[in-house]
Amino acid sequence: MPLYKIFPIALCEGPRDSSHFAYRAEPGKLCNTACYIWYIEGSDTHILVDAGADAADFTVRGALETDIISVEDGLAPLGLTPKDIDIVIVTHLHCDHIALSHLYNKARFIVQKREWEYAQNPHPIDATLYDRSFYANLNCDVIDGNKEIVPGISVLLTPGHSPGGQSVEINTSAGKAIITGFCATQDTFTPTGEMAKRGWEATIPLIHHDALTTYNSVLEIKRRTDILLPLHDPAFIRKKVIP
Ligand SMILES: [Zn+2]
Repeated sequence: MPLYKIFPIALCEGPRDSSHFAYRAEPGKLCNTACYIWYIEGSDTHILVDAGADAADFTVRGALETDIISVEDGLAPLGLTPKDIDIVIVTHLHCDHIALSHLYNKARFIVQKREWEYAQNPHPIDATLYDRSFYANLNCDVIDGNKEIVPGISVLLTPGHSPGGQSVEINTSAGKAIITGFCATQDTFTPTGEMAKRGWEATIPLIHHDALTTYNSVLEIKRRTDILLPLHDPAFIRKKVIP
């Protein structure tokens, strides 16, 4: 089985209320968060997880964010340009994971069927999280459920935060790494003392369609991964490569 390395590229960062990624935990406390694209090295196919967003894409939706690096400058040390990317695995179609899709104009985008169908006409409660202009004309592979993309890299359907979120499981020299298919930080996976007393093994992101389904997805990822890579955790801002 091939072994891969993961290069997190933090495009921007910004403060959020800590309860944003840990539902009902310590509202009022601020934490730093980041928005990434993740390059997976180890295959002849150039694979990226998520298309990313820049600070302006957040600001227009009312979230304060500061740019760290552009996609072009983030990929350059790897000897790549956005046009070299063959596949973009899209965890879900919320704007912060798809806004820069136009940069990868030779790529095939892999999206879950449930996410794709929902995103055509989202409910008003979360319609501002979706923008059809980011995905209306994509070269898309719409898939349904768990699937191996190349040997050693698979997607896992992990719904709840959005209808068809998919996590990405990657074979590495240090075990299975999973990039979560839902917006999360390490706090999402770490119950507070009060939560643990209630028997919770994790919490869920504030934004979700169904709390129970989301919890089950979070728990499944927590149990099966050796290296947890939550989509918005600030721990990887200065991390060059995993493992
Ligand atoms: Zn997100």
